[in-house]
Amino acid sequence: MLNLSTSSALFDRAKTLIPGGVNSPVRAFRSVGGSPVFMQHAQGAWLTDVDGNRYVDFINSWGPMILGHAPQIVLEAVSQALPQSLSFGAPTRREVEMAELIREMVPSIEKVRLVNSGTEACMSAIRAARGYTGRAKIIKFEGCYHGHGDAFLIAAGSGALTAGEPDSAGVTQGVAQDTLTAPYNDVPAVEALIAANPGQIAALILEPVVGNMGLVAPADGFLRALRALCTEYGIVLIFDEVMTGFRLTSGGAQQLYGIRPDLTTLGKIIGGGLPVGAYGGREDIMNCVAPAGKVYQAGTLSGNPIATAAGMAQLRYLHEHPELYMALEATSARLADGTRQIAAELGLNYTVNRVGSMFSLFFTAEPVTNLEDAKKCDTAAFGRYFHAMLNRGIYLAPSQFEALFVSTAITDDLVDHYLRACRESLAEAHSAK
Ligand SMILES: *Cc1c(COP(=O)(O)O)cnc(C)c1O
Repeated sequence: MLNLSTSSALFDRAKTLIPGGVNSPVRAFRSVGGSPVFMQHAQGAWLTDVDGNRYVDFINSWGPMILGHAPQIVLEAVSQALPQSLSFGAPTRREVEMAELIREMVPSIEKVRLVNSGTEACMSAIRAARGYTGRAKIIKFEGCYHGHGDAFLIAAGSGALTAGEPDSAGVTQGVAQDTLTAPYNDVPAVEALIAANPGQIAALILEPVVGNMGLVAPADGFLRALRALCTEYGIVLIFDEVMTGFRLTSGGAQQLYGIRPDLTTLGKIIGGGLPVGAYGGREDIMNCVAPAGKVYQAGTLSGNPIATAAGMAQLRYLHEHPELYMALEATSARLADGTRQIAAELGLNYTVNRVGSMFSLFFTAEPVTNLEDAKKCDTAAFGRYFHAMLNRGIYLAPSQFEALFVSTAITDDLVDHYLRACRESLAEAHSAK
């Protein structure tokens, strides 16, 4: 067993000071039991906690650290930016260069606005879509997570899912009634919503590959059908690529599937570990955003010089090294296929879903294509598995309804290490009932 004495002492203090002891709910380990690990240091694939335990990291800060922790190129860019200014609150050259780079990597983005988080990006994107269309309602999918904006906390995924309260307290009925939801991968359900709300839908927002109910891929033709419906009915199609952007390919899920959304939201990788988000897309829609247009959206720290230095350095590296996506694909395939095979050898025909460097082991033998499927998982067994892996130095997301994020720092030896731990932990999770 791990010695977690300093972590648990810190957690006890934190609980008297911070709601639930954490600054973001899923970190609290509520859905797997036990108390969270407090981290001290990270380098490459490895995390070190405050008690000196070491873990191989398969969360990577929920995605941003695609190059592993503390990559030299990002550290250097930040150190060079530091003496210039921590914040100007005025325009800078780097924001222009970053916008150019984003547009080059994600060509559907003709104009882009930088913000400070994925939540802000998604909130702002639907406001822009509403301003552009003059319509009120949006469609989202059950189990997709678009940050904690009021309009999205209806059948939301990620932390909102395991909290057992998909509809958050504090969200008014007035807001909720403008958010319509459909099951993921269900085109007829979307058609029915459009038919029932003629001329009222401003936007359809989705994760083109879902990471927030565990990893769920779009069914063949799903994204294409949504694109066609949105074009036909004048609905703004928003791809929330906060997780998938710069991860599945350097151009995100839209490049992988060859679908051009009207707007895209970005976060996570775009900041290289610092708080950055962005939304952008068609020029005619983005021209509605202030001060060019009448949709108000602002941010004191938006385009912050240190955050853009980190983000730009990481994006530029990804852009200049397309071969690393092939390496990530190979590593991730070994991890996911190995996991599936080990489960099968133990008589557990569990579902493993993978797209690129994101994958999930679902504790169910049924296919997982939407939220209802995901909810069939044996979450108690997942909790035992999670702790068995943690004890073996493998740091997974503390919830069944999250994906693993593979970084380029995962070597073949670390894949072997993970697979050994996986075999022992799956056996342990199903023996110790
Ligand atoms: C993480 C995430 C968000 C929210 O981003 P924050 O930076 O946590 O506010 C939005 N959408 C998706 C798909 C995400 O994975």
